[in-house]
Amino acid sequence: MMESYDVAIIGGGSAGLAALKQLSNLGKQAILLEAGKQVGTKNISGGILYSKKPKTGRVYNVEDVYGPEFLKDAPVERKITQYMLHSTSRNKVFTMNLTAAHEYQANFGYSVLLNRLNAWFARHAGESAERQGGGIVSGVHVRSLSWQGDKTVVETDELEPFEAKAVIAADGVNSEVAEITGSRPKFTPEQLYQGVKVVVKLPEEIIEQRFGIGPDEGAAHLFAGDVTLNHIGGGFLYTNRDTLSVGAVYHYDSLMDRPAEPYTLVNALLKNPMVAEFVKDEVAIKEEIDKNLPKEEQLRVRFAVSKLIKTWNELRDVWYSPAARKKLVEAGKYKTEEEIKARLDSVQNELANKYHTKFVTDYVELEYSAKLVPDGKRCAMKKPYFKNVLFVGDAAGRGVFIGPRIEGLNVGIDDAVRAANAVARAIDRNNFGPQYMGEYYSQLIEESPYTRDMKEIDKDYVKIFLDAARDVPKDIIGQRYGMVFRLMSSGTLRGLAVGFANILGYDKLLPLVESEDTYVQVPVELAEKMGRPIQATYEPTLPTVAQRVARLKYDDDRISHIKVLDSKSQFMKKMVTLCPTSCYSMEGGDVTLQHEACIECGTCAKETEWRHPRGEKGVIYQYG
Ligand SMILES: Cc1cc2nc3c(=O)[nH]c(=O)nc-3n(C[C@H](O)[C@H](O)[C@H](O)COP(=O)(O)OP(=O)(O)OC[C@H]3O[C@@H](n4cnc5c(N)ncnc54)[C@H](O)[C@@H]3O)c2cc1C
Ligand code: SF4
Repeated sequence: MMESYDVAIIGGGSAGLAALKQLSNLGKQAILLEAGKQVGTKNISGGILYSKKPKTGRVYNVEDVYGPEFLKDAPVERKITQYMLHSTSRNKVFTMNLTAAHEYQANFGYSVLLNRLNAWFARHAGESAERQGGGIVSGVHVRSLSWQGDKTVVETDELEPFEAKAVIAADGVNSEVAEITGSRPKFTPEQLYQGVKVVVKLPEEIIEQRFGIGPDEGAAHLFAGDVTLNHIGGGFLYTNRDTLSVGAVYHYDSLMDRPAEPYTLVNALLKNPMVAEFVKDEVAIKEEIDKNLPKEEQLRVRFAVSKLIKTWNELRDVWYSPAARKKLVEAGKYKTEEEIKARLDSVQNELANKYHTKFVTDYVELEYSAKLVPDGKRCAMKKPYFKNVLFVGDAAGRGVFIGPRIEGLNVGIDDAVRAANAVARAIDRNNFGPQYMGEYYSQLIEESPYTRDMKEIDKDYVKIFLDAARDVPKDIIGQRYGMVFRLMSSGTLRGLAVGFANILGYDKLLPLVESEDTYVQVPVELAEKMGRPIQATYEPTLPTVAQRVARLKYDDDRISHIKVLDSKSQFMKKMVTLCPTSCYSMEGGDVTLQHEACIECGTCAKETEWRHPRGEKGVIYQYG
């Protein structure tokens, strides 16, 4: 007899984990299967995790799912208290304070790193699930679903097949469950963004001084203008506790029109003088070892320098962190905090004087990552279920992407609670039929204020932008936008204009609103005419893509999880440029793939036979 569970959840991102926790909160049994060796190693985000309080209707927030423990104990980074939008042109920057937009209908927004946060979610959801006879199994890749009567048989690459009465598909933007079930076609470039991000190291108190924030505060900086290299989208920089998340999110179709290597877009951001000054730090550069020295002596010096630089980095992190300083003194490792500083200085002196190590201004990149992001306005599934399978989060194409507003995490958590509630009701009635469970879930999703945000313009949100741009002379933003601006600035006319726009619908409006004009030309104009000049004090040393890949951790799989279908197609030729880790190259007239460096972003999925790697295999993100 096959093993049997009430519910199988496929995918352990923030959405799948929330579904597991909610089902356990409701006393239901569920098992979650995650491909990564550990939960959190396959997930990336910008990312700000929001908790929202909409004007009408309710959403299910992270603290509703995980309880007060979340605010007390979860490894979130910083509560974002400043939210700035910068228009850039060369060395000029024009800044608008959009903190009101960030705070709009929000209880809070924390910067987060998903490796840590999803691991915390997994601990809490997993423990609750075990009490109901379920749990989390990581390192398992689901490869097929089939139906025997009203039960679903789940097959994986690693385990014996088992049965489930209901399935929640939380397997992300490149959902294989969607493909297996034929519930929706693969997303098209018009429906997607490509997000590329680097995590930069910066000690805690330096972040606070540089961004003008307190120990419990954080800053978000958004960028448009020439940093976009004429593409539709923009850059972001969020402060974490002792790192920064710096990234670029671009319309995939804009990149298809004029292919650009994804890393060049992040590099353009890092080279911007304002960003360069934000990320800079003191970096130790090893001196070349004298090749005339005996081999053993060269080895000894190399080892001593590496060890000292490691100690210097660790002590520096401690010195710039009040909690870490206190901990070392309390543990009796140092008598006073000043002693830590004295030790740090002595290590630095030894490195400089004995080993000729140089200390220069540069920036320190820790991790490079990329993923596709679905634009809910364009691709949210109209019918987010198939038989007894409910789709949530990125797998369902859901997310709120409006101007600088990027919300996938909170939307996925809200979906997950609604899916879990629908499944729990089905378990109580022992009715998993699409009319009873799927339709009910559809109805719950339709009631979500996030669904409204994916369909309609919110005039109060628009007003915040207009207020922030109040002092901008209208002639700067061009006649067309000046007229719209004047129309929208009047309270009564704004209501009418937004009402009219909503009748037209997002489909017709989006090409106008999300255009090169709004992301590139107008910001450049603003920066040129009203921006302040910023001079970078150094030039960041940008790693090559090969260096970025070399820093990533992988569990290599000999077998490729991607199969090229037509090596001569125009789409595949563009992948040579658009793959963020340069896995594709041209040989003669054919596109060839070397899958080893793949970071599973999904950019090439549309015209390939694309699977996630087998359980535990592939990229292992340390930050996410
Ligand atoms: C650069 C960038 C910036 C972003 N910024 C923000 C932001 O600031 N705020 C915000 O709210 N959102 C942001 N987002 C979006 C947000 O990160 C996503 O919406 C969210 O992480 C999606 O969560 P998910 O659980 O739906 O999917 P995922 O996190 O993709 O999880 C899917 C999981 O399923 C697993 N899986 C897939 N297939 C299988 C299978 N067959 N078997 C087993 N396991 C499988 C995967 O390993 C993965 O762990 C950003 C995204 C990017 C890329
Ligand atoms: S091979 Fe495809 S999925 Fe892998 S990193 Fe490149 S574009 Fe992304």
